[in-house]
Amino acid sequence: MHEIGIMESTIAIAIQHAKAENATRITEITMRIGEMSGVYPPALEFAFDVVTRNTIAENATLKIETIPVCCYCDSCQQAFHPTDWIFACPHCGQLSSKILQGKEIELVSLKIVK
Ligand SMILES: [Zn+2]
Repeated sequence: MHEIGIMESTIAIAIQHAKAENATRITEITMRIGEMSGVYPPALEFAFDVVTRNTIAENATLKIETIPVCCYCDSCQQAFHPTDWIFACPHCGQLSSKILQGKEIELVSLKIVK
């Protein structure tokens, strides 16, 4: 389960930021997860509980923003949201290899208590 590793590095960054602000606790963490990031949100939530144990982020709330996949069609010169996993353009049917978004695994924001 690679979600544990992702969460370990995310929490490490979060704690580093919080400590730089002289925070005593982290109460909320928001992450942005792309539909195509390969991350399974329920596994991420489980990893969050495990990784935050005995840290200043223990019992914090994890918020996950899901980012839909967005592709770009060169022929139509427009972005589209693919309806299946072959990324065919809904206008011309051409397969797109350009993915504009949907692979994000990002730490977005923190709520801290000083
Ligand atoms: Zn097209």
